[in-house]
Amino acid sequence: MFSKTKLICTLGPATESEEIIGKLIDAGTSVFRLNMSHAKHAWARQAVKIVRREAVRRNVHIGVLFDLTGPSIRTGDLPEPFILAEGDIVEFRKVGAAPAVKLSTTVNYDGLMADVAVGNTLVVDNGALLMHIEEVGEDRIACSVKTPGTMGSRRHINLPGVRLNLPAMTEKDHLDLALAVECEADFIAGSFVRDAAHVRELRSAMKALEGDAQIIAKIEDQEAIRNIDAILAETDVVMIARGDLGTEVQFEELPILQRRIVKRCHELGTRVIVATQLLESMITNPTPTRAEVTDVMNAAYEEADALMLSGETSVGRYPERCVDALVRIATRIERSGGLGYGQLVILRDERHKTARAAVMLADSLPGARLVVITRHGLLANQIAMFRPRTNEIFAIATKASLCRKLALTRGVTAIKHAFSPNIEDTIRCVIAVLRSDYGVQPGTPIVVLADIISDHFAANSILLHHA
Ligand code: PGA
Ligand code: MN
Repeated sequence: MFSKTKLICTLGPATESEEIIGKLIDAGTSVFRLNMSHAKHAWARQAVKIVRREAVRRNVHIGVLFDLTGPSIRTGDLPEPFILAEGDIVEFRKVGAAPAVKLSTTVNYDGLMADVAVGNTLVVDNGALLMHIEEVGEDRIACSVKTPGTMGSRRHINLPGVRLNLPAMTEKDHLDLALAVECEADFIAGSFVRDAAHVRELRSAMKALEGDAQIIAKIEDQEAIRNIDAILAETDVVMIARGDLGTEVQFEELPILQRRIVKRCHELGTRVIVATQLLESMITNPTPTRAEVTDVMNAAYEEADALMLSGETSVGRYPERCVDALVRIATRIERSGGLGYGQLVILRDERHKTARAAVMLADSLPGARLVVITRHGLLANQIAMFRPRTNEIFAIATKASLCRKLALTRGVTAIKHAFSPNIEDTIRCVIAVLRSDYGVQPGTPIVVLADIISDHFAANSILLHHA
């Protein structure tokens, strides 16, 4: 049995073969992520092809997620890395400006000088180097080095607490978005989403290309935290991108923020992914550290929809063992119960209230299963948000593309099945499939929730059947 918590694996050189992708699916992966910061287009096309083929071969619905780079700030190219000592002064200048000191590099964001102030902290390479901004000029800033280290080319820069005026999407993002749409991506993630307008911009750019992917907003800095409600109102899914978020806030704030975001996502009915460094040590080691086990367990306990692996599966030595570890940890905590934020879902309309009633009914019937017959997936996502205790939620949809979009919803197994003109016929056929393919025993109570009654009549309804 796989976990209710869904697993996302980032593909990379360690996991590009048909064989490994197949194994990762067999181990419990339900979504594969292509990190467009690294993936070349030809490679990504090929990877998507393999994922789709391996999924069809196994008769499962596996999602593909294109993660766009977003407007990250990077240092320039250096002929040789700088070896920096505490107190050294490093200059970051606009492209085209002449260096004024020896330790000088360009930065790819011209607006930087206008956004920062003397006294701000500048973090290079995900925390490897800390600097203090000493001077801000027209076309350059000067920083003093606070922690010694080496600075190579094209290093990532974070500015904790600074409000940046970066665009929502870069030129590269637009090219990558076009590829994602061409590959019929199921999910497209925007990096460094800072407000609702960024989500809208990404969605309308995708719609203009006639894409139908679901949008994931990666929460990576304090600005996004401040605007979280507005972002949740626009996005389909949220990703707690703990890599960048962890350098943008004081580290002791990170677990608190994670929990707060997970809670708010439950209240407002938005799916949520916990990402980054879940099993970081397993990039090189065959077993997780105790701290990692505890961290993964915490995320599963919070009942996040999905957990995401990055370097662990893209370049790590033990991709399959990582998925195994997540499944083991998640299933264990799922057995003893979660945090219960599903109780806090705000019931805003009749659909929410009907879904809640169906969950209460199913949870009151020992061994019951939930079946959702859904046209757009809304009802399936809604019902999952209540975090039913019952074993499985089967979502019945007519299109494979919709089934794939349910791949990161906690506890949902999507089944592609045609709808009969009459819902009773549909239910009869579906129950036969549950018995033959999903091990559902005769007599099992089946609570059916539907947003369609017949070809001509759409309404929310709850029906109680037995397998
Ligand atoms: P990244 O996003 O891996 O694309 O940087 C995730 C994170 O920042 O945690
Ligand atoms: Mn990031």
